[in-house]
Amino acid sequence: EAEMAYAESLFALTPDFPEPGVLFRDISPMLADPKALRTTAEALIHPFSGQFDIIAGIEARGFVLAGVMAGVCGSGVLPVRKAGKLPDPAGYVEYALEYGTAAIEAPGVLKPGQRVLLVDDVLATGGTLAASRTLVQQLGAEVAGAAVVLELEGLGGREVAGEVHALFNA
Ligand code: IMP
Repeated sequence: EAEMAYAESLFALTPDFPEPGVLFRDISPMLADPKALRTTAEALIHPFSGQFDIIAGIEARGFVLAGVMAGVCGSGVLPVRKAGKLPDPAGYVEYALEYGTAAIEAPGVLKPGQRVLLVDDVLATGGTLAASRTLVQQLGAEVAGAAVVLELEGLGGREVAGEVHALFNA
């Protein structure tokens, strides 16, 4: 509808970032707009309403989305961090990037069996989201679902990351 189209119109597109040939999509203008931010947060939650206990935001824009979503629905937040930033991480999952590897960690705050909704800004190859699923399971909790603002099609992300609720496609 009109509110969603407005939110989508606020993506900033930057060619050749972070490397030549890549069109980088930044949701920052959408985060800066109160109406679009609220609409987006509600739409990310909608299919999972009543089915999760906590929202895991993936560093860094996922933190913002998770915080706003948690405010809307009254849940808590779990930050999924890039490895090496937490004093006492409770889990560790390494995953492959195009060149090299990356790793994520989380603080040890999940309760056994807690239902976790994962959220991030962009789904690309799916590696980050797949690793986040593994991390939640490693911590003894349950993945209730995954939501992203934007899915980049043609990269096979969905095959790697599993079921994902995407608001927009590009
Ligand atoms: P993936 O692991 O290849 O799916 O990449 C997803 C991760 O990289 C997410 O955490 C995104 O925030 C980030 N990412 C990949 N492409 C973009 C982009 O075009 N804009 C913003 N973030 C991106």
